[in-house]
Amino acid sequence: MTEPTLPYGRQWIDDDDIAAVVAVLRGGYLTTGPAVSGFEEALGAHLGAPHTVAISNGTAALHAACAALALGPGDEVLVPAVTFLASANCAAYVGATPVFVDVLPDSGLIDVDDAARRVTSRTRAIIPVHLTGRPADMVAVRRLADQHGLRVIEDAAHALGATLGDTTIGDCRYSDVATFSFHPVKHITTGEGGAVTTRDPELARAMRAFRCHGMERDPDRLRDASPGPWYYEQQSLGFNYRITDIQCALGTSQLRRLDDFLQRRRALAALYDELLSDWQHVQPVAATTSDCLSAWHLYSVLIDFEAVGVDRATVMARLGEAGVRTQVHYIPVPWQPYYAARSEAPASYPGAGAYYTRTLSLPMFPAMSRDDPARVTAALAAATGR
Ligand SMILES: *Cc1c(COP(=O)(O)O)cnc(C)c1O
Repeated sequence: MTEPTLPYGRQWIDDDDIAAVVAVLRGGYLTTGPAVSGFEEALGAHLGAPHTVAISNGTAALHAACAALALGPGDEVLVPAVTFLASANCAAYVGATPVFVDVLPDSGLIDVDDAARRVTSRTRAIIPVHLTGRPADMVAVRRLADQHGLRVIEDAAHALGATLGDTTIGDCRYSDVATFSFHPVKHITTGEGGAVTTRDPELARAMRAFRCHGMERDPDRLRDASPGPWYYEQQSLGFNYRITDIQCALGTSQLRRLDDFLQRRRALAALYDELLSDWQHVQPVAATTSDCLSAWHLYSVLIDFEAVGVDRATVMARLGEAGVRTQVHYIPVPWQPYYAARSEAPASYPGAGAYYTRTLSLPMFPAMSRDDPARVTAALAAATGR
């Protein structure tokens, strides 16, 4: 019997999750109901965040953060070159200009010294991304932000459950806003979904309004006297970025299992680390700060394909034949045709180039068995001719 194919990541839904969703379907609210506020409270409590707004997806979370911080035309926003498209697109959505920053070649995390070099009189914000689940150097990011009066948005889509010193990513100790995604490959899922966290009640209010067309119903905040209970005012331009009760019931149920999921991810990462410890041309992605705990969204390795003598496409194809799916996170965003015309040439991002040419994400998800890492590394050994 052949062994089942291992994806690089996938969700884990159990009977409690299904029951939670079914209970909402039998109830009175499918959207904008108690399951949404319940999920926001549970997530905020878990992260130690004073304000949490659940939203339709992680990209909408980033868009809401940029809008609430009033970023707009003429503003420059520093974004690491290696990330998912959404980390840069959110700035473009509000008319601001993403300015790409190089990453550290062995971690893929934002190079804060390079960020400092790219600050101009127009720079208004920086979006560190906790790539693979390891926190970026937020102390250095905060220092840079304080020097230049920048706002800080953490793209924490990979980092639910990560810690840095005595802070939890999402408690916004070093940032104005942190954003999360609940796409099925992320730590917990709502199908599609996202959230923003902040310590600032005004930002939270703005992001809540942004989620629902810019509508304001709070009597204390209306411009005009309310003529009756139906009344609302649109005071800003928002979107329909609401998340449903169906999704949030799933999110609350999944959140109860987050600690178990994280423990499993950490145990799998430790097994991979051990199995790869004496490989010459394959190294796990490096940590940059010693006092952090990764949330292990991804287990990415750096492979010197030239030294190995097999190119990445061939290695991936051979792994695929062995039932091991892998992925590349990510093509540097300034390499993308849309951004190539709007940013500096690849040579300006040597760290991103060095990271991108070597990186490969091996299967990592909580339902993987403890035997799977050995199966993956055996397949990798065969695929690279080790
Ligand atoms: C997944 C992800 C997003 C976007 O989240 P969606 O929920 O898919 O919109 C943003 N940034 C990073 C780094 C991500 O991995």
